Amino acid sequence: METKDIKAFGTEAAEAPLKALDIKRRAVQAHDVEIEILYCGICHSDLHSARNEWHGTMYPIVPGHEIVGRVTKVGDHVKNFKVGQLAGVGCMVDSCRECDHCKSDLEQYCDEGSILTFNSPDKHLGGHTFGGYSQSIVVDENYVLHISDKLDLAGVAPLLCAGITTYSPLRHWKVGPGQKVGIVGIGGLGHMGIKLAKAMGAHVVVFTTSVSKFDAAKELGADEVVLSTDSEQMAKHAKSLNFILDCVSAEHNIDSYLNLLKVDGTLTLVGAPMEPLPVTSFSLLLGRRSFAGSAIGGIAETQEMLDFCAEHNITADIELIGVNEVNDAYERLLKGDIKYRFVIDMASLK
Ligand SMILES: [Zn+2]
Ligand SMILES: [Zn+2]
Repeated sequence: METKDIKAFGTEAAEAPLKALDIKRRAVQAHDVEIEILYCGICHSDLHSARNEWHGTMYPIVPGHEIVGRVTKVGDHVKNFKVGQLAGVGCMVDSCRECDHCKSDLEQYCDEGSILTFNSPDKHLGGHTFGGYSQSIVVDENYVLHISDKLDLAGVAPLLCAGITTYSPLRHWKVGPGQKVGIVGIGGLGHMGIKLAKAMGAHVVVFTTSVSKFDAAKELGADEVVLSTDSEQMAKHAKSLNFILDCVSAEHNIDSYLNLLKVDGTLTLVGAPMEPLPVTSFSLLLGRRSFAGSAIGGIAETQEMLDFCAEHNITADIELIGVNEVNDAYERLLKGDIKYRFVIDMASLK
């Protein structure tokens, strides 16, 4: 298959810093859209993958799955995209398209495993897929999203992962007006969870371990902020929440949150702590509560989320960086020194 050489930013080893690399993209096929990448968000999973912390990383790796750009070429059979339009790509670039989940707009749960934007087998070129820290990407139109020109494009990029990861469970568990919803943690995911739950009409209670984040939580839209290490503050919310979105990726006490749920309430994890989380049976039994998890969202739902954000004027709060600042950004990410998402200005990749 014909290919095109482009510039990218990635690494050839877990211990090595990211640097400029040359990669190949396939020539545009009949159903493909070629996108010049303008902005790419930095997700924590980029760092985990670059450093092989979840194992199985194939090198060289080019991370990045919060991609926003402009269409530069379309294949002959492309129906929904035109050259010059804005377009986005999230965590997936393909899936089997045949299984029950793919057929019900749940491609993220494809039985064969969806083809991720980076570090998944590339069925076109062999080898593996390369992500958004690059000049351009070629993706089948069924996995490309429409992006509104009403919003700040750099702030839209993180919606493609952090946005859909929080939107999907809020929708699935039918968060809306009249409900009290907890958001645990105020990072890349949590800050989107607060904005989205608020826009859906819920009364939003934010839980944090740091008093210094109270003002920030309120600015993001929290109706109440609770210091989770203060048992008196926690006790005030006992058995009162309809739903809790848990955005924490570190070890934490799940029972203390389950006990804040009403009867039939659900606590859903979107963070990914590495260690198992102990749960006491009575925290679930007494109140018929559910402890659940959720991963990104399907393509149709991702489009719904982007349209919802355009309608409600929602973007991520970001710090825009040049590609040469990515290694420093990773170190800052580890310290939690970011409000709330780094986004790379891909024009800096020369
Ligand atoms: Zn991500
Ligand atoms: Zn499938």
